[in-house]
Order: sequence, then C-alpha cells, then structure tokens
Amino acid sequence: MARQKLEQYLEDYPFSDTSHIRRDGDRLWIPKLYCHNGHDLTVTGVTFDGLPAIHILAEVGEGGPREDFYLSPIINDPRKEGPELPDGTRLRLLCPECREPLRQLVPCTCRVGAYRRAVYLTPDPQELGAVGICEVYGCPQSFVTEDGELLYEVVQEYGRE
Ligand SMILES: [Zn+2]
Ligand SMILES: [Zn+2]
Repeated sequence: MARQKLEQYLEDYPFSDTSHIRRDGDRLWIPKLYCHNGHDLTVTGVTFDGLPAIHILAEVGEGGPREDFYLSPIINDPRKEGPELPDGTRLRLLCPECREPLRQLVPCTCRVGAYRRAVYLTPDPQELGAVGICEVYGCPQSFVTEDGELLYEVVQEYGRE
C-alpha cells in the first residue's frame, strides 16, 4: 500500500491575501500558476472546493493525443479532471496556450527517467517560485519552492498502511 505525506520545510511562511501560497484553516493552496512564458494556467470554469483549477495540456506518449487536464490548486490534493489513464502512463506536459513543453526540473523517484516539470508562482520564472509536478500519470509527488527554497513536498511512501 502506498500513501502520501506532506513535508513542510518552513514554519513561518508569510501567508496573506496576496501571498503566492494561501492558507485557510488546514487547506494550503496556490491561487495563480503560470508557464515559463508567463501564460496564466488558472481557469475558473473548473473548480475544486470553489478554487480555480490549473489547466495543463498533456500529450499521451510520444506524438500521441493531446488531452486537457485540470488539477486541484490545493497542495497535497490528488484530485484532477481529465481522461482516466492507467497509472504510470508517461505524459508530455504542455502549456495549453503556447503549447511548449513545461520545463524539466528534477528527477522523480517514482520511475527511472521520470521528471518533475515546472509551473511557476509568478509570470517570471527568474523569480524562482515554482511547483514541480511529475510527468507520470497517477504520481502524486510534487513540491513547491519560493525564492529558490523548498517549502513543501508531497512524498509517496511505500510499504505502509
Ligand atoms: Zn505558455
Ligand atoms: Zn513521479
């Protein structure tokens, strides 16, 4: 059995009405995310608990069909809308607007050769605020950085109930 765990690396994040990461009660969420070209990926047509979803285009396999996925903006929330695929399907994640592949960040431990891809907290990737999402369907491992520092990481743990 696998379960996922949220690691938090910063005790005193300055949550506010304008911070890049927001908090209401126990819920941590991200109000805006952008591609490396500054395109806004947030949509209001799909929501999770009333919060705008993150729209990502994904190519299924090399040159395969392109599908729209809507991810929850809540940290450590695996919900998404989109086609159901077998867990472990490799995706090529693209910006729905410029259709460029999302930038490769660091390897994911879920599979050999899998990478986390970047969506950014601000329109300027130089500001070093990013969410790294795995390009493998069904892998929940993600992380959030701001000012180049790791703030949150969702880690899949195996072999425990
Ligand atoms: Zn774009
Ligand atoms: Zn992964």
